[in-house]
Amino acid sequence: MILRYNSESGKGYDIVVEAGSIDRIGRLIDLSGKKVLVITDDGVPSEYAGKVAGAFAGSHILTLKAGESTKSLSALETIISSLVEHRFSRDDALVAVGGGMVGDLCGFAASCYMRGINYYSVPTTLLSQVDSSIGGKTAINFHGVKNIVGAFHNPSKVIVDPECLDTLPPRIFAEGMAEMIKMAATSDAGLYESICSWNGDKAELCDMIAGALSIKLNVVQSDPYEKGLRKVLNFGHTIGHAIESAAEGDLYHGECVAIGMMYMSEGRARQQIETALEKYGLPVSDSFNPVSLCEFVSHDKKAKSSTVTAVWVSDIGSFEFREFTQEEIKQLITNRKNEQQHR
Ligand code: NAD
Ligand code: ZN
Repeated sequence: MILRYNSESGKGYDIVVEAGSIDRIGRLIDLSGKKVLVITDDGVPSEYAGKVAGAFAGSHILTLKAGESTKSLSALETIISSLVEHRFSRDDALVAVGGGMVGDLCGFAASCYMRGINYYSVPTTLLSQVDSSIGGKTAINFHGVKNIVGAFHNPSKVIVDPECLDTLPPRIFAEGMAEMIKMAATSDAGLYESICSWNGDKAELCDMIAGALSIKLNVVQSDPYEKGLRKVLNFGHTIGHAIESAAEGDLYHGECVAIGMMYMSEGRARQQIETALEKYGLPVSDSFNPVSLCEFVSHDKKAKSSTVTAVWVSDIGSFEFREFTQEEIKQLITNRKNEQQHR
């Protein structure tokens, strides 16, 4: 199926969500006569970038080191050097083949090379297929601060092939599922039901990915520059980011979001979120000290003032924005930990 991102500027783009679409990429994207740089990393099975490069005459592959530390100025320099060396013009194109790391980096390089060239995205992790590959946010990290240098730059087309997920390690697949549960919990009770009853069927996974993408599309179309509604995508992230900092790399981002959602929901909705998370082997609690978690919350860039705005879910499929003081956040964390001890 084909979804469409409509932008006010008229520069929309298609998102193809189809099993086997990577094998048909030469027919889905017309890059005849153009130079093409395919960017991937060494954790992504090389056959994917190979298929993409094979579809476009005049293309070559740049394989970077896998891992978040590659989202850096030095990798940007490597990409720009390659573009300059191969004399890329503004009519040529980049294609990202990989997860969110490759997508964010490639998108940022495309946003600044010659003041902006086209890029295409072939996301190969569940997280990048449902979340990072659309919305136009591109970035690199700098001096340990995540996504601090970046730009809004939309891809020209996104090719989502769920078959690429076959090679994904289960823990990384589950991480992406946490972000899907996040979207379903705030915005689509039907998607929540599908996630809970999924039995591994490939066609259903394709529909679920399209469902999650539709949610993200609706949100980013109405708030492309993250001034309001787009913050709904941060459900679970306020305390999730604090847990991620406290865990010092032991927990994956999606795992921290999973735990974070448990703090920002109540009643039956919280039980339902827990059921979904446990189905995918995701954690639902942590053992960090409430005081240190609070300190991490206040250091988070989203805590602009003394209060924090967070997304709260009390009914699956809907949400509200709530303001919390630092004291209320501490209370929330302490209450949840007390509840867990008495379970
Ligand atoms: P990632 O890109 O680092 O990929 C995770 C690991 O999976 C890597 O080792 C990669 O080599 C490997 N991999 C990728 N595809 C594979 C496949 N099909 N089979 C086997 N291994 C594969 O991580 P991610 O979770 O996809 O993305 C995280 C990044 O996305 C972060 O940098 C984050 O900031 C960014 N992000 C951006 C947005 C946005 O709106 N731009 C939103 C959310 C996250
Ligand atoms: Zn996230």
